[in-house]
Amino acid sequence: MLTLRSYVSGSWQAGSGVPAVLENPATEEPLAQASSHDLNFGAAVEYARRVGGPALAGLSFSARGKLLSAASKALYEKRDELIGLAIDNGGNTRGDAKFDIDGAIGTLAAYGELGASLGETTSLRDREGVQPTRSAKLWGEHLWLSRAGVAVHINAFNFPAWGLAEKAAVAWLAGMPVISKPATSTALLAHRIVEILVEKAVLPPGSLGLICGSAGSLLDQLGDQDVVAFTGGSETAHTLRRHRAIVECGVRLNVEADSLNAAILGPDGETGSEVYDLFLNDVARDITQKTGQKCTAVRRIFVPASRLADVAADLADRLAGCRIGNPRDEATTLGPLSTRAQREAVRAGIAQLAATPGAQILLGGADAVPGLDRGYFVRPTLLRCDDPAASSAATLHRVEVFGPVATIMPYDDGAGLAQLVRRGGGGLVASLYSDDRHLVPQLVMALGPYHGRLFLGSARLSGQSPGPGTVLPQLNHGGPGRAGDGHELGGVRGMEFYMQRCAIQGYKPTVEGLLPRSSTPAT
Ligand code: NAP
Repeated sequence: MLTLRSYVSGSWQAGSGVPAVLENPATEEPLAQASSHDLNFGAAVEYARRVGGPALAGLSFSARGKLLSAASKALYEKRDELIGLAIDNGGNTRGDAKFDIDGAIGTLAAYGELGASLGETTSLRDREGVQPTRSAKLWGEHLWLSRAGVAVHINAFNFPAWGLAEKAAVAWLAGMPVISKPATSTALLAHRIVEILVEKAVLPPGSLGLICGSAGSLLDQLGDQDVVAFTGGSETAHTLRRHRAIVECGVRLNVEADSLNAAILGPDGETGSEVYDLFLNDVARDITQKTGQKCTAVRRIFVPASRLADVAADLADRLAGCRIGNPRDEATTLGPLSTRAQREAVRAGIAQLAATPGAQILLGGADAVPGLDRGYFVRPTLLRCDDPAASSAATLHRVEVFGPVATIMPYDDGAGLAQLVRRGGGGLVASLYSDDRHLVPQLVMALGPYHGRLFLGSARLSGQSPGPGTVLPQLNHGGPGRAGDGHELGGVRGMEFYMQRCAIQGYKPTVEGLLPRSSTPAT
């Protein structure tokens, strides 16, 4: 069986001890094993800081952008091989695998272009300068400068390619070296990506490390110039927030966690209308894409009360059309969940939602999928609850079932709808399908503070938008509250996490002489 080694301190190193086994979730066959036990995490961190950091920080944004473009091209050349690994280790259909891998390639390319646009400089100017006193000689500016530490990236199991690349692209462009730790269960793809980037030598030595296996004592090695960007479940996030490095050593932490994303059909979304078709397509795709293992997947669906039965029937029809099976079979449209543990968690989650007073299962459920004795399969599941405002319905707004599972619920008016959506406690994205000139601005104001992103589905956008579930490099990713309060991507905005904003005050000509040559403010 293949042993996944970690890439640390400039070489491939195997851990010792009992390894974790990575499986093909469609067949339950073991594919590889990984252990990070006994790796020298201290040396890995020190090497990244000492070798990778100065090499990256010494390059201009434009030169860093070229590295990102080269990394994007290197992965594109191996796209088919990477798709195969995502199918085998992630249980992805070919379309799901492309979503992850093309997302990685595209985000690297987008940040490569951003680097070119930022030019031959190594710092960013933050807005316009100020004269803080009456003296015209005293001047103040804010500059963003690369932090001098290492960026540790801890990723979730569902996007081994995009998760690695989207975080790394932003850190590298900001001038920081990266040590990436993919979730162990699906690390095969991330491992191959790092192999490709190392083989092609597209990055300066020390810019990229990889830990295959548990994070071990990695975080214990971190200090005040280092950062941790985490994506995963809320409980792990709580553990990390309490870690000594975060609490006592000033390590910066970004958290991307769970979200009970809402999709809303406006009153104008009548059956047969373009906006209704857009809503149905997006919602059905978002429930089933990657077998629902997407942080941005739709979990709660809100429709006008008078339409509840019709919309539920249309959606159930769409979902029932899924073909569940091994994604190596091209006819399959819904692959397995990624691990046995995920399947057990999804089954338990469906049971929990179904036990909510007033909730009923319209389609699917927690039972085994007939005819599929091996593999971690579940059926697409749609629940309905007629009284989502009841206190007894809290579970539907709080429990994230990380699979192809969603609940459809009614609303009466815009104000009541906003209250219902907010019960999710802060989300990554909410989508609103309506061209109603009053409802759209009303909901943007009411829901904006509770979300990192709002997707406005309009009839005029039909066929021209990737939908709410696709995270775009140019726009913020991350939401408040239970979503972790993180901020990733969003062009230059994402880079701020990896940089220090420093106020420079002094004699005006001296301060102005320090400004980056492209003096356009970054934000
Ligand atoms: P998870 O169990 O929290 O694991 C996430 C990562 O944390 C894995 O790499 C895991 O490593 C690592 N980890 C676990 N315990 C750790 C510790 N004590 N110290 C350091 N690292 C630790 O989450 P998951 O099951 O992989 O992912 C599913 C969750 O992620 C869902 O809740 C989903 O909503 C969320 N998610 C959020 C986003 C977003 O952008 N907001 C995106 C994707 C997923 P091992 O695998 O080695 O245990």
